[in-house]
Amino acid sequence: MSLSSPRPGILNIKPYKPGSSEAPGAAEIHKLSSNESALGASPGAMAAYKASGEALFLYPEGSAAALREKLGETYGLDPARIVCGAGSDELLQLLSRGYLGPGDNIVQSAHGFLVYAIAAMACGAEPRFAPEKNLTANVDAMLEMVDENTRIVFIANPNNPTGSYLPDAEIRRLREELRDDVLLVVDAAYAEYMDEADYNAGEKLVEECENVVMTRTFSKIYGLAALRLGWAYCPAAVADVLNRIRGPFNVSAGAQIAGVAALEDQDFVERNRAHNREERDYLQQQLGGLGLEFAPSYGNFILVKFPDEPGLAADDIHAYLKENGVIVREMGGYGLPQYLRVTIGPKAGNRKFIALLEKKFSRD
Ligand SMILES: *Cc1c(COP(=O)(O)O)cnc(C)c1O
Repeated sequence: MSLSSPRPGILNIKPYKPGSSEAPGAAEIHKLSSNESALGASPGAMAAYKASGEALFLYPEGSAAALREKLGETYGLDPARIVCGAGSDELLQLLSRGYLGPGDNIVQSAHGFLVYAIAAMACGAEPRFAPEKNLTANVDAMLEMVDENTRIVFIANPNNPTGSYLPDAEIRRLREELRDDVLLVVDAAYAEYMDEADYNAGEKLVEECENVVMTRTFSKIYGLAALRLGWAYCPAAVADVLNRIRGPFNVSAGAQIAGVAALEDQDFVERNRAHNREERDYLQQQLGGLGLEFAPSYGNFILVKFPDEPGLAADDIHAYLKENGVIVREMGGYGLPQYLRVTIGPKAGNRKFIALLEKKFSRD
């Protein structure tokens, strides 16, 4: 007898393709493919993680209590309504598992983060993609996709890979016009990079409504991607659901300890934010100077469009950059095959990226 088939829908999932980290033959590698922190991790977080190695035999504290306390203190939130996960990825999966089943659907925007669709399909639910305008989520188009079987609307704000964001007023309008029994999940993985006065990561809405969840991560500005650490701020009833279905020790001890230390080093976060602001300006200016179109970015990455010309198309440039040690992200999976996404990295990587593009696109 052979193994039975997986549940319907599972084999329709296209596996998530992480940013590559290999560039065979290149002398020096600049990995600008996964939106990792440009400044590494806080020295305090690294020291705390190393020290945690002395207690590898002990199970972690199951509810990540100390980390939730620290998050509450840092962001002015109620620790009882925070749930931590092995990356915000795990929380997106758990939210799906808690609220979706066969026959249900989710709505996300056309070029929104792909993990939502994967998480939905893993539960037998159908992902629906609402068209965007100017590579920006469109609230009206998202609302139009909602029907009686919609259970969750996912939105990344700012969005990866487009780099665009919706002001608080638009997120609120989306919430107001959705049925009360549809959960709105605001994925604010890049919230710390935002300076815009009309932006809110979503915590206020979580506190005002019973049907909004905000997810956050330590993988980006905090520089702890390797540890897999994220958190969700939830209405009490949603936190209860997540706490029932998560693994009892879903966040490792090292991640919890490093997370607390990372939160204590807000100077590091500020340096990373300032670096990103400066280097984003530099990159956008240079790209513009080379006549390349890009989506103005609010995150730590830029989506760049390449011409439909042999040798200069996104695929060609991707291969050319890689041969020369600069790894960026291909966008075919996001329905944006003419684009590449480049992470705003350390100065050296950003300059190498521009120098390589100059050889192909310089107009003088
Ligand atoms: C990087 C990213 C995350 C973070 O995922 P982790 O699992 O926390 O590493 C979540 N959402 C979006 C949109 C991202 O780009």
